Amino acid sequence: MTYDDNNIFAKISRGEAPSFKVFEDEYSLAFMDVMPQVEGHTLVIPKDKAVDLLDCDAEILGHTMVTVQNVAAAVKAAFVCPGIMIAQLNGEAAGQTVFHLHFHVMPRFSGIEFKMHAKGMEDFSKLQRHADLIKEQL
Ligand code: AMP
Repeated sequence: MTYDDNNIFAKISRGEAPSFKVFEDEYSLAFMDVMPQVEGHTLVIPKDKAVDLLDCDAEILGHTMVTVQNVAAAVKAAFVCPGIMIAQLNGEAAGQTVFHLHFHVMPRFSGIEFKMHAKGMEDFSKLQRHADLIKEQL
């Protein structure tokens, strides 16, 4: 698949679309998922025109994984969750819906199931509160 410069995460990365940002550096960006499967659901993207993992520049990917690790630690501290799940989907057949590489960082609690994937917009003031909680831990 060819990378589409106008996908929503490309627009967020360029500052052309809004996001509840928690972290940004030269290589990567982290922001709240607007249709979270669980409270604290955060996304990390590389600043690379990469459709998926297989398409990403290795150096940018390496830096992005450090961001994933740091954001995971911050989400775990902010939401006081015993587990943290990292998910990453490649291709429509795998369930990918936005074709700019991204990592899902999701708190996990025993016995608490996830909500549906990419369904149901969260209240924006809640997302801002959650972004602030995570930022305090970074
Ligand atoms: P995937 O299905 O792995 O491609 O995941 C895409 C994710 O992006 C889903 O969890 C959506 O809820 C989320 N999403 C879609 N649009 C936005 C947006 N504008 N801002 C933040 N998250 C989004």
